[in-house]
Amino acid sequence: MKNSKGSLIRPVPLPDSISRPVVTPLSPSVVYASDTPDDLDAQYEGRTSGYTYAREGHPNADVLARRIDLLEGGTGGIVTSSGMSAVTAVMMGLLKAGDHVLGGDQLYGRSLRLMKQDLPRLGIATSLADPTDVAAMEAALRPETRMILVEVVSNPTLRVADIEGLASLCKARGILLAVDNTFTTPRAYRPFDAGADIVIHSVTKLLAGHSDVTLGYACAADPVLQKAIYDFAVTTGLTASPFDCWLAERGLATFNLRFDRAEANAVALADHLATLPGVKRVLYPMRADHPDQARAKALLGARGCNMVSFELEGGRKAANAFTRAADGLAFAPTLGDVGTTLSHPASSSHRALAPAEREALGMSEGFFRVSVGLEEEAPLLEVFTRAVAAARGAA
Ligand SMILES: *Cc1c(COP(=O)(O)O)cnc(C)c1O
Repeated sequence: MKNSKGSLIRPVPLPDSISRPVVTPLSPSVVYASDTPDDLDAQYEGRTSGYTYAREGHPNADVLARRIDLLEGGTGGIVTSSGMSAVTAVMMGLLKAGDHVLGGDQLYGRSLRLMKQDLPRLGIATSLADPTDVAAMEAALRPETRMILVEVVSNPTLRVADIEGLASLCKARGILLAVDNTFTTPRAYRPFDAGADIVIHSVTKLLAGHSDVTLGYACAADPVLQKAIYDFAVTTGLTASPFDCWLAERGLATFNLRFDRAEANAVALADHLATLPGVKRVLYPMRADHPDQARAKALLGARGCNMVSFELEGGRKAANAFTRAADGLAFAPTLGDVGTTLSHPASSSHRALAPAEREALGMSEGFFRVSVGLEEEAPLLEVFTRAVAAARGAA
């Protein structure tokens, strides 16, 4: 980048340096100055590269997007202001009134709301089906179905979608397959390798990993589709802030290490919970008692995820006693932080459902989802031993 010119209002230019910073510089500038109109032409016509206005792109967003592209095996993905803005840019950048989109029936809460309320309001028809069952998904297709949106591992019951079956179905029927890879991450699973057309992330979660930024990522394999997603995001201002991108890049530097540690803790925690009296059931995709274990092993190989769900005996009273006694663990509805966090779907993500609907989905008042963090294993398991005992005492 050229730094040689100062200006009247900022007369001191950046110092010349023959050495380079090791860390990506933070570039909060919203506007970029050019030398001549000819230079601007060259830039807009793609003969040179450069920036003009941060809503359209800035170095920190590009550096972060290229890093995630590398992990996912994509090219030209964009970073957006949140995971939901990435979902929105994909759907609204690629779909039009009259199209139909089919979603997995256990999508992230706000993705579900977008499907159920907002897209239909704009003339885009939507429906939901079980993504672990390709025949059920196929039966829900319509002649005007243009896209399927699924998550690999669902929230909070950790069911594993049949991505390979869905990819073949989509290929055969000319339908776009969009995969939200937030829970699994490219460390465990790369949807493009399985034939997905679009990969989406809430970078807020494991990729950034420190609960201090809200960001998303969207990448289409087809550059024409990617351009449509980019244009929609720029037009509607879904742009990410440079500082958030800079922080996320810092988080990403340790992503593989964090994932491996959290996953190892999750395996240990799932097995530990299964031994504790007062725990009715444990859900972890790689365990033998999980309904999708075979598919989890086929898709995720040796890897699992950092999410474990379980059900306490004893309902709300036990749940209150559990979070009160879970000293050192945040009872907070997020995931992918460095620390272990607990979420209680009945009072948060799934509170809008009637109790009977929640029960049907297997989420009772005693149901918790754990996003396992990077703590030392022994003290982490100990907190759960104590908190489950406290819950049992209260039940
Ligand atoms: C959190 C999450 C989102 C939304 O991401 P935000 O960054 O909170 O907007 C989308 N999908 C999944 C699977 C998520 O966990």
